[in-house]
Amino acid sequence: MNLQPVLLKYWGFSSFRPLQEEIIRSVIEGEDTLALLPTGGGKSLCYQVPGIAVDGLCIVVSPLIALMKDQVQALKDKGIKAVGIYHGLSKLEIDNAVDNCVYGDVKFLYMSPERLTTDLIRSRLEKMRVNLLAVDEAHCISQWGYDFRPPYLRIAEVRELIPNTPILALTATATKNVVADIQEKLQFRKANVFQRSFERKNLAYIVFREEDKLKRLLRICNKVKGTGVVYVRNRKRTREISDWLGQRGISADFYHAGLTSKERDTRQDEWMKERIRVVVSTNAFGMGIDKPNVRFVVHMDLPDSPEAYFQEAGRAGRDDLKAYAVLLFNQSDIIDMKQFHERSFPPLKEIKKIYNSLGNYFQLAIGSGKEQSMPFDLVHFAKTYAMDPFLAFNALGFLEKEGYLAFSEALANPSRVMFLVNNEELYRFQVANPRYDPFIKLLLRSYTGLFNEFTRIREGEIANRAGIPENTVKKMLEDLHNMQILHYKAQNETPMVTFLEERMSVNDLIISKEVYQQRKIYSRERMQAMMEYAQSETKCRSLFLLGYFGETKAQRCGQCDICLERNKAGVSSYEYKQLVELIKPRIEREQLTLEALLGTLDINMSEEKVLNVIRYLKDVGTVTEGTNRILQWKK
Ligand code: ADP
Ligand code: MG
Repeated sequence: MNLQPVLLKYWGFSSFRPLQEEIIRSVIEGEDTLALLPTGGGKSLCYQVPGIAVDGLCIVVSPLIALMKDQVQALKDKGIKAVGIYHGLSKLEIDNAVDNCVYGDVKFLYMSPERLTTDLIRSRLEKMRVNLLAVDEAHCISQWGYDFRPPYLRIAEVRELIPNTPILALTATATKNVVADIQEKLQFRKANVFQRSFERKNLAYIVFREEDKLKRLLRICNKVKGTGVVYVRNRKRTREISDWLGQRGISADFYHAGLTSKERDTRQDEWMKERIRVVVSTNAFGMGIDKPNVRFVVHMDLPDSPEAYFQEAGRAGRDDLKAYAVLLFNQSDIIDMKQFHERSFPPLKEIKKIYNSLGNYFQLAIGSGKEQSMPFDLVHFAKTYAMDPFLAFNALGFLEKEGYLAFSEALANPSRVMFLVNNEELYRFQVANPRYDPFIKLLLRSYTGLFNEFTRIREGEIANRAGIPENTVKKMLEDLHNMQILHYKAQNETPMVTFLEERMSVNDLIISKEVYQQRKIYSRERMQAMMEYAQSETKCRSLFLLGYFGETKAQRCGQCDICLERNKAGVSSYEYKQLVELIKPRIEREQLTLEALLGTLDINMSEEKVLNVIRYLKDVGTVTEGTNRILQWKK
């Protein structure tokens, strides 16, 4: 099968990125496949191309509503039929979407793993002619992964319903254990992994031990030209830091999940178009954002794990030109991080208590509430039950990962419209109600598919075109809704909680103690690895990260802070290795002062170079001088 035309027609790309074509061919041949490509490596194409090229429907399982929405929209923009089923959609919308997958010619269906395993979907799967089951962010299936989501474990349940459909698992971060685990949990018929090296040759990883982080940040912004992202943990700090930078002449803005989606869209847009140079953000920024020429990513706080760090830092330099990934760190971060970790695992008892309070808060009877979405004000909730909001937040996060509820923070559903009448009926209505005629015509001109499916609209856009105020547009849509001409769902901005299961009594709420403990331990290990990265003074940063992901054959990067320091010694890596191999055993075995070592060294290298290397080794603590100035080799 020639795939090039598909790539060119729908994406306008002339060639595949490394491994894309191999992965696509493997899928088309019907093989279960695991694709391990770095963020930005082009994973979506790996299921979208076969999804288009092969007859039938491609189901995409994804954990994040925001990403699903973007992808569905992007496909639609290319004229490809795609639908997504998310929490917060009405039953009518869901039924309609599912019907279109069974009877219509929809090519892509996006949904969460919880949804995939509902009876509604299971009962229709056989009729859907599924050509591929794509599992995005597949590391979520592994309890060793940094983002374990138990509902992922149930994905394999549907395999028996579509036994001839291959599975494609995709992830950007997986250690060796996780790679094996993904294939096992998804019941791969045989092992089949395509993996690209995680090495980023153009990215210089730098760690600064720094008390005055702001000053250092300013220096970086002044020194490195081009756009950047600054990550901080705390929402409030995003604003403070961006203001602070602004006052010092750096064009900056801030971003976090607490802003309205409109604010977030505008800021993201301004930054993409380079009207803002630096975005100061929580980790909410960056997912699904594709800007190739980011020149630096600075972390003001320690991320939770090397996985998270690698993903976030990796947003710099996608264009393969030199870029910087900088981590600012000081000793107090270690304490903060340990506390943060403790708090993100509320005691099981607390989690259960909060679950119970939540049910009371919404006045849900035990056994009811399934699939119900309710507006939710976390601060008010916490106040009502006199609990720490941070604790409540983390407990909800935990329950979300367990698949009991979905907790969306101002994850706005855009406004959407679908006609409830057919073409003819609408025409008759227009004739009978000339007042609405121009408006309906404009609507039909502006959007396609309005008769078949819920279509995303923008009231502001319509208002501009019609030259009328936005409020009038909304009023018109509401009128038409009330007259049952169309179904209009206005955008909602309030954070929502959706119960995915009926409310149960606390005793039935099963969170296994072992699973919980395990998860806490793995999470602590990742945190410790991250601290080690920050504190290490001898290991090339790139090698450290690659080693963490199980790549052992990589080379020193030559451009991280550790390598640069060593380069200052002015020796080639061959000379360095030769010298270390010579002096290490001697220092370990003999009692030598520096002079004694130099006096007896048999190597064809200037004394200056030898001294440089030893000075470097002393600086980084590999070599120390003990009593009587005897040299010692520390590991
Ligand atoms: P991932 O999911 O691996 O992080 P995406 O699928 O979001 O990456 O793709 C990242 C970007 O790379 C997208 O803008 C996509 O259009 C682009 N891209 C993917 N494949 C190619 C290709 N073969 N040629 C050029 N650009 C590509
Ligand atoms: Mg992706």
